[in-house]
Amino acid sequence: MKESAIYIHIPFCDHKCIYCDFYSIITSDNITSFISALKKEIKYYSEQFSEDRIYSSIFFGGGTPSLMEPKFIEEIINSLKKNYNISNDVEITLETNPGTVDNNKLIEFKKSGINRVSIGIQSFDDDDLKFLTRIHNEQTAVETVKTANKVGIENINIDLIFNLPKQTKVKWKKNLVKAVELPIKHISAYSLILERGTILNKMVLDGKTKIQDDDYDAELYEMTIDFLEESGFIQYEVSNFCKPGFECRHNNAYWHYKDYLSFGPSSHSFINSKRWWNFSSLKRYIHEIEKNGFAIAGSEIINNEMALHEFVMLALRSDGLNLKDFGKRFGENWINQKHDYLNKLSKQNLIVNDGITYRLTKNGYAICDEILVNLLK
Ligand code: SF4
Repeated sequence: MKESAIYIHIPFCDHKCIYCDFYSIITSDNITSFISALKKEIKYYSEQFSEDRIYSSIFFGGGTPSLMEPKFIEEIINSLKKNYNISNDVEITLETNPGTVDNNKLIEFKKSGINRVSIGIQSFDDDDLKFLTRIHNEQTAVETVKTANKVGIENINIDLIFNLPKQTKVKWKKNLVKAVELPIKHISAYSLILERGTILNKMVLDGKTKIQDDDYDAELYEMTIDFLEESGFIQYEVSNFCKPGFECRHNNAYWHYKDYLSFGPSSHSFINSKRWWNFSSLKRYIHEIEKNGFAIAGSEIINNEMALHEFVMLALRSDGLNLKDFGKRFGENWINQKHDYLNKLSKQNLIVNDGITYRLTKNGYAICDEILVNLLK
């Protein structure tokens, strides 16, 4: 049985945040037709991808999945269980935004099968939250984490963003201190990225706000790694930290180059060396599903060279390039050709090799993109 993952894209949001480039819409008019289309899509792919696979993680992302009524999430989980081999100890994550859930709703989500929440806090600073146009404040953020923990969801991630405009080191450190005081098992800490087409991008182009430079970004990043490690978190990917044993199984499936099947508008699937993606329009998605059972907008076959590059990139960004796994998939030639460069990185304390795996060090993570460019050229 091939271990694989499932992603569900829920496109509904309360409003559009200034920095966001995910596919989301702020109307929930089509919820019932969306759920019906999702179930048809789930059934459609089960004919091809259920027999020889076991699915060990399900991730509800978006959008804001926690805006949904729990009964809809339960319906989707039941439909997945009916159509696929879902492992008994499956990890089921719900992206959850503070301000969209309360005690009862979290209890219902837990009953529906959710056993991990990923809470989009982004910042504990009210001014930063206003700047990011989030709907919550610090108090709601803290309450959401505590309530999730109280109702018995032990596996909690929070997302944080650093290097916001005018964010001082003191302010960022306060975020980290607040985070580790909470009953969480995982932190995803991302630097603010300026995505094309976002309101934030326009604000920067119009000179209404300024993004801080790369050196400052690197200093905040280094501070993050040091502080979280001192606080008992393990870094297992460039931007992800967890308490021992709480790595996100779903993220690991992506980073370990496993197959994943995705449903919903704009979602991307990767199975048997083929990648395909759905239409990024809810109306078009529903229309195509009703007509064909699938809603594919485009696809590509991943050839051996692309696969090698993606494998190396994902491995080095996460818990390292396992030489045995790599050799099984791609042979020894490529790694032998890179021997001198990898040795050089090792002497510079950017990478370590324990004979089994090449793993980036803290300094290596900080310049991961540069290392990958050199390694893969
Ligand atoms: S809540 Fe999340 S998905 Fe929705 S607009 Fe904001 S950042 Fe994007």
